[in-house]
Amino acid sequence: MCVQNGLPVARRPLRVLRLCGMLMFKPILSWRIRTGLPLVLLAVASGCEPENAPDPTASADRPNIILLTIESLRADHVGCYGYQRDTTPSIDALASESTVYEQAYSTTSWTLTSHASMFTGLYPSAHRVILPQDRLSDAYSTIAERLVGEGYHCAGVIGGPYLRSTFNLNQGFEYYDESVAALTNEQAHRDVTNPQMAEAMERFLRQERDPDRPFFLFAYYWDVHFDFIPPPPYDTMFVTPAAQPIESVQFGPLVALGRDISAAQLAYLVAQYDGEIRCTDDYLGQLWALLRELNLWDNTAIILTADHGEQFFEHSYLGHKHDLYVESLHVPLIVKRPGQKEGSTDRRVVNLVDLYPTILDLAGSQGESLHGGWSLLGEGAGDDRPVFFELTTTWTVTDRQTGEKRHDSDEWVAIRLGSHKLLHVLETNFWQLYDVIADPGEKNPLGSAHHETAVRLRERLDGWREAMKALSSKWLQGPKARLSPEEERRLRSPGYLQ
Ligand SMILES: [Zn+2]
Repeated sequence: MCVQNGLPVARRPLRVLRLCGMLMFKPILSWRIRTGLPLVLLAVASGCEPENAPDPTASADRPNIILLTIESLRADHVGCYGYQRDTTPSIDALASESTVYEQAYSTTSWTLTSHASMFTGLYPSAHRVILPQDRLSDAYSTIAERLVGEGYHCAGVIGGPYLRSTFNLNQGFEYYDESVAALTNEQAHRDVTNPQMAEAMERFLRQERDPDRPFFLFAYYWDVHFDFIPPPPYDTMFVTPAAQPIESVQFGPLVALGRDISAAQLAYLVAQYDGEIRCTDDYLGQLWALLRELNLWDNTAIILTADHGEQFFEHSYLGHKHDLYVESLHVPLIVKRPGQKEGSTDRRVVNLVDLYPTILDLAGSQGESLHGGWSLLGEGAGDDRPVFFELTTTWTVTDRQTGEKRHDSDEWVAIRLGSHKLLHVLETNFWQLYDVIADPGEKNPLGSAHHETAVRLRERLDGWREAMKALSSKWLQGPKARLSPEEERRLRSPGYLQ
């Protein structure tokens, strides 16, 4: 049963959040970045000696840093997280020389908002990139902007539509290759982008990177996103005789199937998802080989994660961006420090807001612990730290009985603290409490016997929401994204826009 409304509301400040002072406006450095000219060149052109000129070589203190995000990749479909199928030999090979964070969670369950959290170190209601046309305000300082200030050459290579510069997450990247994401219109789901991603990554690493500066390279791999249409041989690699083929191209009809989908059809769908993962993984293996060939493997930190998970009707839905249950939030997070040769595991509950301070830490910057995030390289982020989740859904759904279309918009928030997770849907005032140790799939909501736990978590959740609201006021909010007709078509076809 659910924990119903009627819980007493109490607000008190959160002790664990460090709401560091932030600039409302960016320093002049940001303007320099937008010129696209190297900082040193600018300094020379202005007749000044460059101050604190970057160390021209990557080193243990200032390694190259690669951040890889894989679209829609659930942690439990990755080999080093215990998956039985051989979906990820390359990721597993990376993990054997890295630290595997076993309990890593996204801040939300969809692409744009999740990446905005990674890039700002902020929870969604603080960076305010929540709806499909939200654009990150220029007032925020992204991780790329911070790293440019540390002397890094920052580059992005993106394979999917939601990280295009339209949404302003490219702030700070001197080099931003969105050519792969712009291949076609209305085909975002059907695109097969891994080969082009490999070419774009090789182009940067061989030709475009500045050899005199360490680099920060962000790459976003799109293909695991629905449609599940892996190219041969991946389309048959995981299909068992018991699986019943089903059209895995059209998302809407599949979603409408809901719980009517048969186990054999679902098995086929999951096999295609796994095929997409294995295809992407094989291209990652090529990337590892390239890094070794270029003698970059040992002096480069590699972080691999996903923007969110994926649902296969565990809680009524297929896809993501529906709710905040575990299958939408639990992501792989693998961090290889420069020179690391031995694998290890870390059981702390961590969140993708932790990437911002972690990357600064890797770069040798004394970055502050931002807004609830902690560097994963340190001792912080213990079990007594809560992590939070937020989502505003924006689906237009067709009622299966009446055929009528209705707008399905709900605001979800959740807190994970210790062994418990509390979910709240604001519009319907719906509450659920789970013991996520005893019930990791979040299938059996706890009842009224756990009222005190629910009240305690609700107080923390309410206090955190107030704190985020106050924090967001430190930055000016920017205008909405102005989508071109082509971009609007792209995003309409997956159903993101109303
Ligand atoms: Zn995504």
